[in-house]
Formats: sequence, C-alpha cells, structure tokens
Amino acid sequence: MAFKASILTLYPDMFPGPLGHSLSGRALDKGLWQLETRQIRDYATDKHRSVDDTPAGGGAGMVLRADILASAIDDAASAEDPRPRILMSPRGKPLTQARAHELAEGPGAIIVCGRFEGVDQRVIDGRALEEISIGDYILSGGEIGAITLLDAIIRLIPGVMGNMESADTESFETGLLEHPHYTRPADFEGVGIPEVLTSGNHKKISEWRQSEAEKLTKERRPDLWHDFTAE
Ligand code: SAH
Repeated sequence: MAFKASILTLYPDMFPGPLGHSLSGRALDKGLWQLETRQIRDYATDKHRSVDDTPAGGGAGMVLRADILASAIDDAASAEDPRPRILMSPRGKPLTQARAHELAEGPGAIIVCGRFEGVDQRVIDGRALEEISIGDYILSGGEIGAITLLDAIIRLIPGVMGNMESADTESFETGLLEHPHYTRPADFEGVGIPEVLTSGNHKKISEWRQSEAEKLTKERRPDLWHDFTAE
C-alpha cells in the first residue's frame, strides 16, 4: 500500500499545489503516494455551514469547533486506521528530518490544517492529535505547513528519488550541514572551483567535504555541532 495522505482543510484547492510538480508530482502520478483532501466545511451542521466560533473566555479571533473537526477526522479515518493523526500547529514539536523518515516508512498520515486562532483543545486531546510545527513563526493556516511536511516525507519514500545517494549526505542526515557544491563553468567572475574537487582524488575530496561540512555546522549551527560532537 502506497503512502496515503488525507488532508483536512478549509482550502482543498491548495492541494496538491507545489506537490503536484517535480519530484513529488511525478511520484503522485506514478502512484508512489496518494492524496485525498476533505473540506472541513462539509461537516458543518448549521445552514450557514459555519465551522468556527468565538473563543470561550473572550478575546480576539475565532476557533475551529471540536465537534465539526472530529466528524471530519472520524470520516477520514476509522478507529483502526493505523495512520498517525497530525495537527499542524506552532505549539507542536518542531519537524525534524528524523520524523520525516519515520513518517515516510509508515502507511501515511491524516493531516489537519488549522485556521483562525487554532482549534478547540478538546479535539486535539480527544483524537490524540500529534502536533507538528514547521518553525518558530506564525502562518495564517496549516496548509503551507502540511505541504512542507509532505514534501519532506515524499522525497524519502522508496522509489521517489532516483539517486538515493544524494539523500545520504544531505544536511541533517549526517548530523551536519552539507558541504558546498560547485559545477561548471570552471571560472565564474574570476572565481575558480576549489582545486581538490578537480583533482580526481576521491579520498581527498571526501576529506575536504567532511571538513567543510564540519566548519559550516560549527559556524552556523552551534546546536547541531554540539549534538554531533557529543555523539
Ligand atoms: N493562535 C495560534 C496560531 C494560530 S495560526 C498560536 O498562537 O499558537 C492558524 C493555524 O495555522 C494553526 O492552527 C496551524 O494549523 C497553522 N500554523 C501556524 N503557524 C504554524 C507553524 N509554525 N507550524 C505549523 N502550523 C502552523
């Protein structure tokens, strides 16, 4: 069974969006992953089809109703559905390459895209939603987060990336940021390519790449460097 993503959103037309192009788009066409969207508004019960209401306790904005979202989730996935139920949320665990790998190895994901001020806490608790954040900033909705999460996952699904080697040295895979890249022309505005890369000496090249990766990580990401050297 191919990886299946079920997206719960107020904006189903945003999908597949960027995921319909390039690597993920070709993989979708080939059936290496599947995409289903559900309009949360279809589960509204009043004649205005409203999905949100004012926050209990007062304050700005609106909150997605627990009952409507729960109906949408239950309809997208039966209790036996093994797929993790994810809520895109700035309060969630920051997305990591490691979590993307785990998800890519699994049967898929049900992904809830929040809007407004967010969603009623009772549906998060009642449906055991795993909250995932894509970074420490606020987006206006969960859709771009869901697209980001899926893009990270899809390229790791077996068969999606042609040259699996390119995945292995990628930033975060080794605990380090990746080394710099160069290609033709040999001279760009008077700047050449580091000599070692044109030497044909594979051992030297890989030593250079490793040392550049370490240097970059140390400079730019002391947090990653700390974990790398603590291993
Ligand atoms: N009031 C909330 C933010 C709501 S933003 C708070 O302060 O925590 C509206 C929706 O956008 C959220 O429900 C979530 O689904 C999505 N969203 C916003 N920022 C996000 C982020 N960094 N990562 C993942 N989803 C995010």
